[in-house]
Amino acid sequence: MSFEQILVPYDASSYANHAFDDALKIAEKFGSKITVLTVLGTKVEPSTGISLEKAIEIQEGHEDAATKILKDLEGLAKEKGVELSFKVIYEPSPYKGILNFLNSNSMDLIVMGSHGRSGIKKALLGSVASGVVEHANCPVLIIKKMK
Ligand code: ADP
Repeated sequence: MSFEQILVPYDASSYANHAFDDALKIAEKFGSKITVLTVLGTKVEPSTGISLEKAIEIQEGHEDAATKILKDLEGLAKEKGVELSFKVIYEPSPYKGILNFLNSNSMDLIVMGSHGRSGIKKALLGSVASGVVEHANCPVLIIKKMK
C-alpha cells in the first residue's frame, strides 16, 4: 500500500496538531503529499475563495494565533521536505464536509485526532472522527493519545 496523498482534517485542536505531527512522519517516510483540510460552518465570502488563514482568523477572532498556526505547520513541513497544501470548505457538518471532499479528491490515508475542540472526552471518538471512520473510503489513522 502506498500513501501518496494524506489528508489531515484539521481543527487546530491539540489532537489535530498531534495528528499532523504523525502525518508528517509518515509523509517523510513514504514521500507523501499532505493536504490539511478545515471545514468551516459558514461561508464568509460568497463568490471568491478565501485563504485558510483568513477563514480561521474570522471564525476565531484571533488573527495572530491563526496566522501563527499556519506558519508553524508550513515550517514543520518544510523542515522535513514534505509538500503541504491547505483547503477550506464550507459545510455545517464537518464530517460531511470531509466526506464530500473525499468524493472528489482521492486520498490514500486520513490521519486525524480522536477528539477535537469540544474537549468532551466521554465518547471513545469525537463526532467528526466517528463519522469519518464510519464512512471514509480509505484507511483512517486515529491519533488518540496526548503525547
Ligand atoms: P470532539 O467531538 O471531541 O471535538 P471531533 O470528532 O470534533 O472531536 O474531532 C476529532 C478530529 O476531527 C480532530 O482532531 C480533527 O482532526 C478533526 N476535525 C474536527 N473538527 C474539524 C473541522 N471543523 N474541520 C476539519 N477537521 C476537523
